[in-house]
Amino acid sequence: NLNDKEEDFEYKIQELEGLVEAAGGTVVGKVYQKRESPDPAYFIGRGKVKEIAQLVEGIRGDTVVFNVNLSPVQISNLSKELNVEVLDRTDLILKIFLNNARTKQAKLQVELAYLQHQLPRVYGGKGKELSRIGGGMKTKGAGEKLGEIKTRTIKDRINKIKKQLKEIEKQREEQRKSREDNPNILKVSLVGYTNAGKSSLLKRLTKRDVFISDQLFATLDTKTSLIYFPDIEKKVLITDTVGFVEDMPSEIMDAFMTTLKEIEDADVILHVIDISDKNWMKKKTTVENVLKQLKLQDKPTITVFNKIDKVVPSKDLIEEDVMENTITISAEKGWNIDKLFDILKKYAKQKEEKHGVCIL
Ligand code: GDP
Repeated sequence: NLNDKEEDFEYKIQELEGLVEAAGGTVVGKVYQKRESPDPAYFIGRGKVKEIAQLVEGIRGDTVVFNVNLSPVQISNLSKELNVEVLDRTDLILKIFLNNARTKQAKLQVELAYLQHQLPRVYGGKGKELSRIGGGMKTKGAGEKLGEIKTRTIKDRINKIKKQLKEIEKQREEQRKSREDNPNILKVSLVGYTNAGKSSLLKRLTKRDVFISDQLFATLDTKTSLIYFPDIEKKVLITDTVGFVEDMPSEIMDAFMTTLKEIEDADVILHVIDISDKNWMKKKTTVENVLKQLKLQDKPTITVFNKIDKVVPSKDLIEEDVMENTITISAEKGWNIDKLFDILKKYAKQKEEKHGVCIL
C-alpha cells in the first residue's frame, strides 16, 4: 500500500513473517514492490512475477505468500507462472486456524470459512473464463460444467456444515450445564496476538523438572501442556489459543470466535502482550473487547507483559508490577517466570477452596 509509512511497512512484513511461522512455515526470501495500482492479472507487475519465479527456483521455495487478498484470476495466474503454491493473506490465516482448531465445532467452522473463500475461485477461475468464450457460441464449455459441478459440491458441503454447526451449538449448550470440573486441575488459556510470545511462554512454563507427561492427557495435542506443583499437589493445564491477527479477514471472523470460545472451559486467562510493540495498547484493548463479546470478561485474567528484555537491558531494571494480576516477564530470558508460577499456584489453591465451599 503506497500510503504506508516506512515503519508501518516494516511492521506489516514482520507480522506476515510471524504468520508464516505460525502456519508452520519458514521464510526463505522476501520480495517487495511499490506500484501505483495492482495489476488485474497478477496483482504485481510482470517483471516482478519473473523475479519471484527465479528466486523461488533458486532457493527451492515451495510456497509464495502475498500479504493481500488476491482475486481468483490472480491466484490462478500466479500459481501457473510461479509453479508453486500461492497463498493470499486469508489462505495463510486459514492455514493457521486449521492447525489450531481443536474441537469438532471449531474444525467445521474453519472448513466453512475455507470453502467460502474457495467458492469464488472455482467460479471465477477457469469455469468463468470458458463460459465467457463459449457464451457467444451458445455452447457450454467443459470447463464451465466442471466449475458448476465443483461449485455445487462446495455449496452442498457448506449447507451441511451449517446444519451440523447448529446441532453442535445446541449440544454444547446442554453439555455446558452438566459439565463436571476437577478441583485439582486449574485450566489456563493463553490468549493474545500472533507473535506476542504465547508459545514461547508455554515452552518456558513447561520446561521444568516438574513437567510431567500424564497418560491421562496423552490424547491432548501439543498445544496443551500440563504442569505439576508437587508442593501443593496441584496440576495446571495450559492451552494455547489461535492468535489474534491484525485486519482479520471477515470470512474468518466466525471461525476465529469459535476457536476462541474454547476459552470458556478455562478457569484463568493468561493474556500475553508484546510490550516492545508500539501498538500494544491498541492490541490489548482489541483482545479485551473480543473477550467481552464472548462474554468472558468476568473470567480471572492475568495480564502478562512479555518481551521486557527488548525494553530494559537487565532483569533488575524491571519495575515492580503494582496492579494486581499484572506481571512483566521475558519468556525468552526466563525473567519473572517464578512470579508467574506463584500467581498460578494461588489460583490453583483458590479453585480447590471454591469447590470446597460449593460442596458444603
Ligand atoms: P506466538 O505467536 O504468540 O506464539 O509467539 P511466539 O512464541 O512464536 O514468539 C514470537 C517471536 O517472538 C519469536 O521469534 C520468539 O522468539 C520471540 N519472543 C518470544 N518471547 C520473547 C521475549 O520474551 N523476548 C524476546 N526478545 N523475544 C521473544
